[in-house]
Amino acid sequence: MKVYNTLTKKKEEFIPLEEGKVKMYVCGPTVYNFIHIGNARPMIVFDTARRYMEYKGYEVNFVSNFTDVDDKIIKKAVEENVSAQDISQRYIAECKKDMEMMNVKPATTHPLATEEIGGMVEMIQTLIDKGYAYEVNGTVYFRTRKFGPYGKLSHKNLDDLRSGNRSLLVTGEDEKEDPLDFVLWKPKKEGEPSWKSPWSDGRPGWHIECSVMSKKYLGEQIDIHAGGEDLIFPHHENEIAQSEACNDKEFAKYWLHNGFLNIDNKKMSKSLGNFFTVREISEKYDLQVLRFFMLSAHYRSPLNFSAELMEASKNSLSRIVTAADNLKHLSCSAKEGAMTEEETARFAQTEEFVKKFEEAMDDDFNTADAVSAVFELVKYLNTHTKAEDTKEYLEKCLERLKTLCNILGLIIEKEEELLDADIEALIEERQQARKAKNFARADEIRNTLLEKGIMLEDTREGVKWKRA
Ligand code: AMP
Ligand code: ZN
Repeated sequence: MKVYNTLTKKKEEFIPLEEGKVKMYVCGPTVYNFIHIGNARPMIVFDTARRYMEYKGYEVNFVSNFTDVDDKIIKKAVEENVSAQDISQRYIAECKKDMEMMNVKPATTHPLATEEIGGMVEMIQTLIDKGYAYEVNGTVYFRTRKFGPYGKLSHKNLDDLRSGNRSLLVTGEDEKEDPLDFVLWKPKKEGEPSWKSPWSDGRPGWHIECSVMSKKYLGEQIDIHAGGEDLIFPHHENEIAQSEACNDKEFAKYWLHNGFLNIDNKKMSKSLGNFFTVREISEKYDLQVLRFFMLSAHYRSPLNFSAELMEASKNSLSRIVTAADNLKHLSCSAKEGAMTEEETARFAQTEEFVKKFEEAMDDDFNTADAVSAVFELVKYLNTHTKAEDTKEYLEKCLERLKTLCNILGLIIEKEEELLDADIEALIEERQQARKAKNFARADEIRNTLLEKGIMLEDTREGVKWKRA
């Protein structure tokens, strides 16, 4: 398996630190609003990378944080007159709902910055003790020039940075020894959430959060660190400086960055206001369509969002779903018995598409080509299955298609529709539950039915129901 490493600007063979295991950290969102579909791109593409590595037999320890302390969260809390924690918890819960709808697996661990402050204070202290950081008036800065390899990820030269980046000198930070130095800890302002530290009551800088959470949950050295390409500089560059200065070890071996999701060929971002939230898109489309759309491009390429491309994705996805549905129907009424020799040979030909799929994914997770291999398989299955085939053959064909789609995180089975008899049986059970004063169960049944689009109405003549 090859991956493109931003650090070396090359595709490299992936060799894990520990055989059979992958330690992977993906920078998560700052939670002050619903996530937009640009934020969804790293979630979907790195979830797919994870699924593929799991398919290859790796045990993947996947950590992705929520940045739950930040100026934007505090601003929103002030606007709504609630606490910063109310805001972050609300949007973490909403983000998790979006992730589930996009079929993004929960991380092994989703750490919260605010629950890891102790580790941050400790790492900052180590950096001060080693001469890599200094305190001025309650603020702690990282001494960038002291870390020799600074710039190795973004391939920036310190002197160019110095001359080209006067803007690095933010107002109020003129106490820095050098404009390139960045904040590790800052004192609180009136009304802001804060934590005790040896330097001031305050809060950590953004970069130190990821260095600490990665170390705590994955160890001092990890295999893959990932995020959107806007994080290369300064966020990931600063993470490297902090972690390597503190631990004296190479922090991450492979740095993977996704390209941007654009709209009208402009970067989609909250600050430009040209974004759609995942939730908005979910009102128009099944989020499987969004997932398919994201995977139809290589993760490092820029991707332009448009209604046309979403419609095309919807149609393409439904071709796969239809193929799966046909196979299921055929197999329901197919004859029992073992696969014939001729069927075994026919099935063996599907290996070719699996091979193509794997070759594409082995080439830096080329999901665009992997999706093409799935379509070749669909075409083959559509023309090489019939009512006379054995159940075993048809089921194996369906299983093969499902396996590949599952790696991409695409759910291709239609939800089973409830039969009238099943609905009535559930309604009867609900009546019994109510009689027995088991209202929890009665509500549960009502909700289950509602999720499947069945509405109940309690009338004098009894319970009536209808499909939404
Ligand atoms: P943020 O909440 O801004 O820290 O972003 C969370 C993640 O989403 C980071 O990995 C960003 O790089 C990524 N991201 C933000 N906007 C976009 C976009 N338009 N396209 C792709 N990735 C994005
Ligand atoms: Zn990060």
